[in-house]
Amino acid sequence: MGRKYINKQGRRKSRGHSGVLNAAYKRQQLFKKQDGICALCREEIDLKLKWPHQLSATLDCIIPYSKGGGVVDSNLQLTHYKCNHQRGNKMINEMNEITEIREEER
Ligand SMILES: [Zn+2]
Repeated sequence: MGRKYINKQGRRKSRGHSGVLNAAYKRQQLFKKQDGICALCREEIDLKLKWPHQLSATLDCIIPYSKGGGVVDSNLQLTHYKCNHQRGNKMINEMNEITEIREEER
């Protein structure tokens, strides 16, 4: 039983959240949409690989969340962890741990 629950430890307290993103489900959706191809390097992604594997699948915000990009399908793409990392998007480290994303409060 050497199993670790890294993702669960990364869960934030959800105080008044109104939007929930199921990251695993989104990954599968995008995987189908992109035919299993990384949006950045155009090579195949293996969904079975787990973060922080260099070739694991990660959700990437096309427009960074910090710059007003929403967590919506049109702003998300599936990439390798390493490709995202190379792109210099620091957010992706957080994205992998977040299971619930809170929309900005009005
Ligand atoms: Zn890639």
